[in-house]
Amino acid sequence: MQIFKKLMIISLLSSFHCAIYAEPASTQHRVVAPKCLLKKINATYTTLASSKNLHFIETNDAGIDALIEAKQNQTTPCGGFMDVTHAWENDGKKMNANHNAKSFLAAYETFPKTSLTTSYSIKYPTEVATLLKQSNPPYMWTRLQGLSSYKDRYSRSDNGVKAAQEIKAEVEAMAKNHGRDDVSTYFVTTGSYKQPSVVVKIGTSNQPGVVIGAHIDTLSSTFENKPGADDDGSGTVTVLEVARTLLSSGMHFNKPIYLIWYAAEEVGLVGSQYVVDDFKQKNIPVSAVMQFDMTAYAHKNDLTMWLYDDYTNKELTAYVETLINTYVKTPVKHDKCGYACSDHASWTQKGYNASMPFEASFRTDNPDIHTSRDTMEKLSLAHMTNFAKLGLAFAVELAEPSN
Ligand SMILES: [Zn+2]
Repeated sequence: MQIFKKLMIISLLSSFHCAIYAEPASTQHRVVAPKCLLKKINATYTTLASSKNLHFIETNDAGIDALIEAKQNQTTPCGGFMDVTHAWENDGKKMNANHNAKSFLAAYETFPKTSLTTSYSIKYPTEVATLLKQSNPPYMWTRLQGLSSYKDRYSRSDNGVKAAQEIKAEVEAMAKNHGRDDVSTYFVTTGSYKQPSVVVKIGTSNQPGVVIGAHIDTLSSTFENKPGADDDGSGTVTVLEVARTLLSSGMHFNKPIYLIWYAAEEVGLVGSQYVVDDFKQKNIPVSAVMQFDMTAYAHKNDLTMWLYDDYTNKELTAYVETLINTYVKTPVKHDKCGYACSDHASWTQKGYNASMPFEASFRTDNPDIHTSRDTMEKLSLAHMTNFAKLGLAFAVELAEPSN
């Protein structure tokens, strides 16, 4: 419906193109998307290259809206898409003297193998248990109330920027209150999108680090409010709770922990691609990535945690299952969500080991995301707390406590 209304407005405006003002030209986007998703969209695009499962296309803003709609409405796992406009302009030109679309697309179909060999094992049960006792579910609930009271956290809106600034300031205040001088925070900009991603580094070592992330943004509130309580307010506060517990614990680690709140996920994993580029440019080594995108909707009160097996690392996912069995003690099941369904895919595509624990199976996740009905009363604080515990166990075990 949204898309239809928008198309009506654009076509009305363009039919009066000699009126007093002109509708700003729609931005052109380069996108990598699975063929199964493109089959479902009702928008025009030009195919630049094709591979086994993917198309590399050029489209406009209406095409992006149609992809978002198709991603949300799929009933069998097909996946999402990556807006690779920036990568095409940069890596694409660097990689291929003749800017070859086919070889550019090949890097999205098969991933490089990471050079980092890490053995994942359970080594710090005492330290993890100490931190799990300090979990504070009411803090998460209060923070989620704050985040979901924004009209939207859209990546092109001032609200979206404010939400990112608020998260950064909050973690800085936590570090200050607990006298931590080993915490650094910075924004990573997102090209033409206003909203920056927020990166927090705990620890000063340059050894291979642990990344735990969620996305801040929602879709635009042009037609209805977008509280985004579950998608992805839940993941956002799950990571905030990991930050709060780590920083108030006084525990220090041999390896750094990067907590990341990504901008502009909904519009094609744009923020996370900029973040991964930034890590690559600075040569920051990473041993493991965890993505929290929707952690609080428990279908029929089922607190099973679901691990997604596509576009994630097999060994790391098996390790996350061990962490859940050891520390969270809730049932675990596996599912698939298709191509690039959240920010972990930006890491996977560049050869990092990533994992994605999720609130439900593909078919039983929150039916109200991307609408004004994505509100808190449908969410389970117990479910969300379990994900925060998993994040803590993941951080402590892989970053190795030093005291
Ligand atoms: Zn999401």
